[in-house]
Amino acid sequence: MQFQALLEEIVATLRPELGREGQVASYIPALARVPAAQFGIALRTCDGHEAQAGDSTTPFSIQSISKLFTLTLGMREMGETLWERIGREPSGNPFNSLVQLESEHGVPRNPFINAGAIAVTDRLVSLFDAKAEMLTLLSSLCEEPIRYDEEVAASEAATGFRNVAMANFMKSFGRIDNDVAAVLDAYFHHCAVRMSCAQLARAVGFLCRDGVHPATGQQLLTERQARRVNSLMLTCGTYDAAGEFAFRIGLPCKSGVGGGIVAVVPDRLTLCVWSPALESSGNSLLGMKALEMFTAKTGLSIF
Ligand code: GLU
Repeated sequence: MQFQALLEEIVATLRPELGREGQVASYIPALARVPAAQFGIALRTCDGHEAQAGDSTTPFSIQSISKLFTLTLGMREMGETLWERIGREPSGNPFNSLVQLESEHGVPRNPFINAGAIAVTDRLVSLFDAKAEMLTLLSSLCEEPIRYDEEVAASEAATGFRNVAMANFMKSFGRIDNDVAAVLDAYFHHCAVRMSCAQLARAVGFLCRDGVHPATGQQLLTERQARRVNSLMLTCGTYDAAGEFAFRIGLPCKSGVGGGIVAVVPDRLTLCVWSPALESSGNSLLGMKALEMFTAKTGLSIF
């Protein structure tokens, strides 16, 4: 299949829509000033062929896409015991909601809402330097150095009152082992990773290869664990729009409020789209349209 021509066609078709609809995330200045009129797309097949178009090499704030890699580190290190403190159900509430935490005794609904990622991060902080380990994982997956945007990390920390509340609330139920400030420092940094579409398409390559590292060939996750990450992406990966994503796109996806979305076609390829303007649930508006066009034109779907 001519993926390069297809990605160029998608960019050419959607570029005229740039800046027309949607809102760039505005809760911190470093995200609010990102120009909306940017759009990139990149893919990597399981056998290593890459294609990209538009602003595919421009780094952006990966935000909640990092929850995918936090979960990967947690599964790699802890296996089944990870699930003692995190559920696997879609929340039906906003990503930063506190309400279910009380009735569910401090156990977050899933690893892709903020409370869930904070709970996984706490387990990682017990094991190693979770900030350094994240960059080591991402740099090895991309085969090039990946860094944090310290300005974004500092702004997340300065304004993340709800995350502070959630972490303390979970700690009150005995579900957080470490100092809350240390856990949140790692969590905020994970949100503040900067990567491009091309790097992210490569970095999630293990999810279309049954857990095998795209560059080294090592087993990063077991086949079963990789399948489980994909199923969590499908059911919980795109805020409150997981139903809409399954309906319109039909692939496991994980999005972030920086405007990036990664998607997996198991056994075939991984892709990443980025455009900063978001729809009301917090997913990239043009990114969703691009993924919809991609699956419509290729016929690729998990269904
Ligand atoms: N950094 C955001 C927060 O913790 C999460 C952003 C996202 O959902 O992409 O509130």
